[in-house]
Formats: sequence, C-alpha cells, structure tokens
Amino acid sequence: MSAITHHIPDAILAAYTSGSLPHHYAVAVASHVSLCLQCRASLEAHQNMGGALLDATDRVAVSGHMKADLLAQLDAPVTPEPVYTRQGIYPRPVVEALKGQDPRWKSVGMGVRQSILSETKEGSVRLLYIPPGQAVPDHGHNGMEMTLVLQGSFSDETGHFGVGDIEIANEDLDHTPTADPGEACICLAATDAPLRFNALMPRLLQPFFRI
Ligand SMILES: [Zn+2]
Repeated sequence: MSAITHHIPDAILAAYTSGSLPHHYAVAVASHVSLCLQCRASLEAHQNMGGALLDATDRVAVSGHMKADLLAQLDAPVTPEPVYTRQGIYPRPVVEALKGQDPRWKSVGMGVRQSILSETKEGSVRLLYIPPGQAVPDHGHNGMEMTLVLQGSFSDETGHFGVGDIEIANEDLDHTPTADPGEACICLAATDAPLRFNALMPRLLQPFFRI
C-alpha cells in the first residue's frame, strides 16, 4: 500500500469519538482508522480527552439495587455476537456492515457497480466498483460525501486517492472521479443526501439506482 495522504479532519474524528456521527459516516471513519496509523493515534488522543472529561464529571448516584441487578444479569445466558474480521480488501467495519456476506453487486451502468450496505433516511453507505479508466458522472453534493478507497485508485479535480485515502466532499465540490488505469477501483462511499448530477441522463436514472 502506498502512503495514505488523505485523512479524516479533526472535527469529524471528534464527532466519531463522542458517538455523535451518524452510522453511515461512522462506518467510513472506522474503516479508514483501521487502515491508517496516523488517524488511529489522533483517535486515541480524542478518546483520552473523553476519558479525562468523564473523570472530571460530577458523580450522580445510581439506584440502590443497581449493583445487585447488574450482578444478577451476569448469570443470564449469553448469545455470542458474531465476530467479524478483515476479508481481503474489506476492513472489519465493512465486513461487519456486510454481516460477513460477500457484497451483492448491482450494475448502475457503464460498468459501474454498487452494493448498498445500509440506507436510512439519515444517509447511506455503499460499495462502489469502478472499472479502470471509467468516470463516475460529474456531480455535486447536497450534503457531505465520504469516499474511502479499498482497491485501486481514482483521481478527481482535487487530487489522487489511493488505497486507504479518504475524500470528504461537501456542497462546494463538483467533481468527476475517474478510476485510474490498471486495477478496478473499489470504494466505500457514505452520503447523507442524494448526489446532484450535472448531466441529464444520470439525473434521470438516479431514482432507479438510489444514488
Ligand atoms: Zn488517516
């Protein structure tokens, strides 16, 4: 893997650490952090701040029987949670979102495929497969879009993104991401609002592909 050069902004790491980042973005942040030592170190610094804050917080008494209730629950039967690990190019948070299954690819035209991992009113997270040399049609964003490269690389107006790099695009950016020649580019993309395509054809097709 070449060196990661595009990282998570501090404010987003802080939101992730405090648990206030919506699920779809949290999957992208956790996936980048699992690939990036630099952001993992920053994350730990944020966590230490959270710990210090907890230490400094005034204590509030819990009910008298809370300890007994808690100890009683330890005897309840335990259903083990499935344990997910990295699979090939997919980091653990992605495998978790896939519930251990392989991605279910659906064509969205021009050789581009997607596999939606989760989709709610708040936002969505999906895998994108872009054949080498293929461009995703020029688009803008109604909200924030996070794109993490898992295989291959792509370039757009703002630079070059290789494995582990994350691009954070907002309303101000209109771009045409194009997969570099060589290997197909596989990305994890998290958005909180539909993309804004600038050409008519993708706009017409958009409702069908739920991009
Ligand atoms: Zn990073």
